[in-house]
Amino acid sequence: MKQELENFKYFTKCPVCSSSALSPFKKGTFNFLNLNKDQIKITDSDYGKTWDLSRCMYCTHIFANPSPSPAFIHSLYSKIEDPLYQEEARGRSKNFLRIISFLEKIHPTKGVLFDVGAATGILLSIALRRGWKPEGIEASAWAVRIAQEKYNLKIHEGYFEKADLPQNYYTAVTMVDFIEHIPNPFEAMAKANEILAPEGTLCIVTPDVNSLAAKITRGKWWHFRPAHLGYFSSKSLSILLQRAGFRIVKLRKYSWTFSARYLISRKPWLNFLLKSPHLASFWEKISIKLALCDSFEIYARKESRK
Ligand SMILES: [Zn+2]
Repeated sequence: MKQELENFKYFTKCPVCSSSALSPFKKGTFNFLNLNKDQIKITDSDYGKTWDLSRCMYCTHIFANPSPSPAFIHSLYSKIEDPLYQEEARGRSKNFLRIISFLEKIHPTKGVLFDVGAATGILLSIALRRGWKPEGIEASAWAVRIAQEKYNLKIHEGYFEKADLPQNYYTAVTMVDFIEHIPNPFEAMAKANEILAPEGTLCIVTPDVNSLAAKITRGKWWHFRPAHLGYFSSKSLSILLQRAGFRIVKLRKYSWTFSARYLISRKPWLNFLLKSPHLASFWEKISIKLALCDSFEIYARKESRK
């Protein structure tokens, strides 16, 4: 029990802005002491389950409190294997291509792109094809192996905030669905700022807790899940980025693209549509854009130090 409790910590200050004006937001709906790696997979579909959540009265950030310690959550991610994630490579590629294309408008001569939470290397493989030098870091040993086998990419295996990386070096840093999974977003932003070259660009994609989808579905919003430790608004994200030395250059809403096969596979009562391999590959080729617009896609430039 003692060991279990050491794996969690209570915040007395907001992990985004450091204010101590915190209030309870939502009572937790699962027993966090039993948290295991299968509950935090990217493709986990157990929606509506949350930690005890607190809300910062200054910046509006909502976060798990207590929260798993950075070392504990990293140890869980290091053991994750998630084959369903890689099966959806086609749908994810479309999302990632849009991000890389936008980065190329800011940096037409390209450069070195560092992907944080690189998973199986889908984003980096696209960056490589388009002429970027790809680098990245990922906690899951399984995902790092797949990236090597499938795309011949050498991704660092480890924990971003503590990684030994060159300073003032990278042209772009991408964090797609990363910051909502970690207990210490400010440390991750500060690290991104440290490794980016002057005028380098950070891209963040993360759910918008004030989106219409979040409001309509209330407690059943699909982003309410044990893997998510922080829920951002445009206000808390702006404060976080400014505090870490960034200036926002573009903020837009994000719509995920999925293949019909992936959406069908997540509904057990539709699984009969995948019984024949011909049918399964047919659904794979059909892309469905979910216009939920319930995530942010933000580009921020590293400010030169005054
Ligand atoms: Zn705050």
